[in-house]
Amino acid sequence: LTDRLQQAMSKLRRKGKVSEADVKEMMREIRLALLEADVNLQVVKDFTKRVRERAVGVEVLESLSPAQQIVKIVDEELTATLGTETVGLNKSERIPTVIMMVGLQGAGKTTFGGKLANHLIKTENARPLMIAADVYRPAAIDQLKVLGQQLDVPVFDMGTDTNPVEIVRQGMELAKEKKNDYVLIDTAGRLHIDETLMDELKQIKEIAQPDDILLVVDAMTGQDAVNVADSFNQQLGITGVVITKLDGDTRGGAALSIRSVTGAPIKFIGSGEKLTDLEIFHPDRMSSRILGMGDMLTLIEKAQQDYDEKKAEELAVKMKENSFDFNDFIEQLDQVMGMGPIEDLLKMIPGMNNMPGLENVKVDPKDVARKKAMVLSMTPAERENPDLLNPSRRRRIAAGSGNNVVEVNRMIKQFKESKKMMQQMSKGNMDIPGMDQML
Ligand code: GDP
Ligand code: MG
Repeated sequence: LTDRLQQAMSKLRRKGKVSEADVKEMMREIRLALLEADVNLQVVKDFTKRVRERAVGVEVLESLSPAQQIVKIVDEELTATLGTETVGLNKSERIPTVIMMVGLQGAGKTTFGGKLANHLIKTENARPLMIAADVYRPAAIDQLKVLGQQLDVPVFDMGTDTNPVEIVRQGMELAKEKKNDYVLIDTAGRLHIDETLMDELKQIKEIAQPDDILLVVDAMTGQDAVNVADSFNQQLGITGVVITKLDGDTRGGAALSIRSVTGAPIKFIGSGEKLTDLEIFHPDRMSSRILGMGDMLTLIEKAQQDYDEKKAEELAVKMKENSFDFNDFIEQLDQVMGMGPIEDLLKMIPGMNNMPGLENVKVDPKDVARKKAMVLSMTPAERENPDLLNPSRRRRIAAGSGNNVVEVNRMIKQFKESKKMMQQMSKGNMDIPGMDQML
């Protein structure tokens, strides 16, 4: 998928201006990316519409390329949709705080219950009680009991013969008596939503008055996530979402769907089967995962931060006029140094990380400093007009900067290559031969 996004991006990268049609084309790719991440179709439509409205109105030529800018807008919108901040559990003023887990069978409710208990013990020394209210599968009760033993957390159960509502009622009483600070209610699921289940959950809600009703959803749920989330929300009013199994290679589009449909914050993420595989939800990380852009977004951010916009424009003008000189060369070196190790930077560009020869691209700060010293030993006229550099001038520069002539010659050669590359880039050719010799 990202291949396609990348193609669309590199197409736009070659352009100076972006038309509405370009934005449209880019948005088509973004839409596909979202659909491939299994985001619900209607959610995708609404979302891309919002982004398109924002993107079209925007001044496009700033420090970023137009394509980068669109991706940035998409990322911002996506993050905003997913929730701008992390939301923790709804805590009750008085103990116990009651948390009820709901969701389809196999979503990961019971596992999450164990993880949450562990998390609460680790972070706030909590004394939770777990209630086993899934009576339809004997194994479900055992599963919770095993977790309880591992964590040294009490599990209240009444076997499979008692009505779950009654189990919860008695469990709540026990928690009050024992002064547990948390009660985690593990409920039953079905393979599909059905009325009997919903009625039971409603009654449990009535009895337990939970502070948080967490809908647990398998990240691989895909298109159906919207219906599931909508039903649970309509019937029970969920107050939070847990997305499990994000350790798989799913891109987690369900998160976006569910958030859009219910408006309930995503609170936790399950990232494995172990009790410690629980993460607090971070909207920005989820966004780049859904987009499948890897570290592209980090790169965009970095480029925007570090690259002096005005300098870039000046440079662009020089490239067009073919007047790239040693002063620009120094600036270029400074900018590259300011952006951190170039090998890190290159690796963030999709497709670049497995480019052969990348491991040879190393920027040595000392080397850059030496080159700078050579340029500074030139007269202003020489810096502006590299053609003046005859052998005697080169010898003078070598002596003045504490280098030998061979090194000066090498630097001048690199300067020329750099200049050639800048010209190619300005013509829109991004395949840069000898990129590794640029510095
Ligand atoms: P429930 O029916 O909703 O209670 O689901 P369970 O908690 O029994 O989980 C169903 C299966 O999913 C079990 O095999 C769990 O080990 C597994 N599971 C739950 N959460 C995760 C997760 O975050 N990652 C992975 N890989 N597996 C999980
Ligand atoms: Mg279960």
